[in-house]
Amino acid sequence: MYYCEFCESFIEEEDLPRYTQSHPYGMGSAEEEIVEYECPNCHSDLIKARLCPICNEEYIKDDDDLCDTCFEKNCTIENCVEMGKDAVEEYELNGFLASVYSKDEIEDCLLADFAKMPKHMQDRYIADYCGEDKYFLVEFLEEKMKNADLY
Ligand SMILES: [Zn+2]
Ligand SMILES: [Zn+2]
Repeated sequence: MYYCEFCESFIEEEDLPRYTQSHPYGMGSAEEEIVEYECPNCHSDLIKARLCPICNEEYIKDDDDLCDTCFEKNCTIENCVEMGKDAVEEYELNGFLASVYSKDEIEDCLLADFAKMPKHMQDRYIADYCGEDKYFLVEFLEEKMKNADLY
């Protein structure tokens, strides 16, 4: 499936404009079918649909690694925390606090603090983190689906 941004129409592969061209071939001629990858209504360039690796549905988006529905559905705090485990960042911490608290205790404390943030701010942080590298999110979700199949 294709999409024309200009006239906002969806076009199936078989509805693309096509014509036959004949080439001289030996003593006669050969016919070749030429498909025009342009909008049959307004002749603009088309965007090809991509297959979402998560739900296997086609979606129209020029430069995205998954469909909007799957993206929104998977923008959750649980996924962010799980993804963050594979992408740890280093911090230098006050030596005294480091002598009192373990890494896990600090993380629990920060998660509790995050939960107190207003919902719209939480949502923004979550969407930013998931959206920063959608390919990373796709890899994470694929891994998660693979593991879910195993059990
Ligand atoms: Zn068009
Ligand atoms: Zn999807």
